[in-house]
Amino acid sequence: MEILKGMTVVNAMKETMKSEIAQMEQAPLLAIVRVGERPDDCAYERGAMKRMSGLGIRTRSCVFDADISNEAFQEAFLAINGDPEVDGILLLRPLPSQIDEKAITELIDPKKDVDGISPVNMAKLFMGEPDGFAPCTPEAVVEMLKFAGVELAGKHAVIVGRSLVVGKPLAMLLMKENCTVTVCHSRTKNLQDVCRSGEILVAAIGKAEMLDGSFAAPGAVVLDVGINVNQEGKLCGDVAFDTLDASVALATPVPGGVGTVTTSVLAKHVIRAAKQRREHAQRDK
Ligand code: NAP
Repeated sequence: MEILKGMTVVNAMKETMKSEIAQMEQAPLLAIVRVGERPDDCAYERGAMKRMSGLGIRTRSCVFDADISNEAFQEAFLAINGDPEVDGILLLRPLPSQIDEKAITELIDPKKDVDGISPVNMAKLFMGEPDGFAPCTPEAVVEMLKFAGVELAGKHAVIVGRSLVVGKPLAMLLMKENCTVTVCHSRTKNLQDVCRSGEILVAAIGKAEMLDGSFAAPGAVVLDVGINVNQEGKLCGDVAFDTLDASVALATPVPGGVGTVTTSVLAKHVIRAAKQRREHAQRDK
């Protein structure tokens, strides 16, 4: 079984991105918007900032108190959204309950929405329009499959999970690649049989090591999106990695798998957002 580590894909993506930035008059700027001090958010922010600075992308941390009012946050968010310096916005979610998160996803400028949370970008993804932004995690899955040279056209891909963040957008991205897609969820019957029918199996469930080796068919490519903590307090995926047998063609580990590639896809989106915005500004002059 081949183990595909996220860093291998990240390194392969790096040079193209660096040379794209080198050709720009000014480096792109990503605003990272965080409300409160949730450890998950802080860890993701640190990782994203490190990846961006390694590529030469500028970042700006926009941090607000956890008890900020909905009105005050909307006003501050609109200021970031309207700042001509800002090329992309990453909003760390979930937001505290007093903030109307849906309203923010509707306010964000789709051209700066580099994590694909706005209804406009969601619609573009569903309509197969190339100029929108898909959520970074499902795109990271496709990026890994392509890097590994997995032939996608005509393949049966089974996705476990139907969230708006991972499962549903991934179904759209894989269909665009001409996969035949089955999406499973908590009410799916005979989950093991359905999973075993997949030539590509993607787990995006959020349940520690829920799928063991018996869910993967011989020759399957297994991508694990889950990020969980197991009973020993260690980070683990939705797949019990150690139970996958040698007949599996390829699998991604957790940690160090899909999550690692997610921030590089974010960087790719920030560069594209900056280029598109600057081209438009040039045209409008
Ligand atoms: P989510 O919104 O909680 O969705 C989980 C999905 O799994 C739901 O569709 C749910 O079905 C399904 N599910 C739950 N229990 C199931 C079961 N027993 N059998 C079959 N399906 C089941 O989670 P999410 O936001 O998509 O995230 C999924 C995982 O990915 C989490 O571990 C999260 O931490 C991780 N994640 C990683 C990244 C990254 O960068 N690597 C990014 C985002 C998320 P129902 O719809 O029927 O409830």
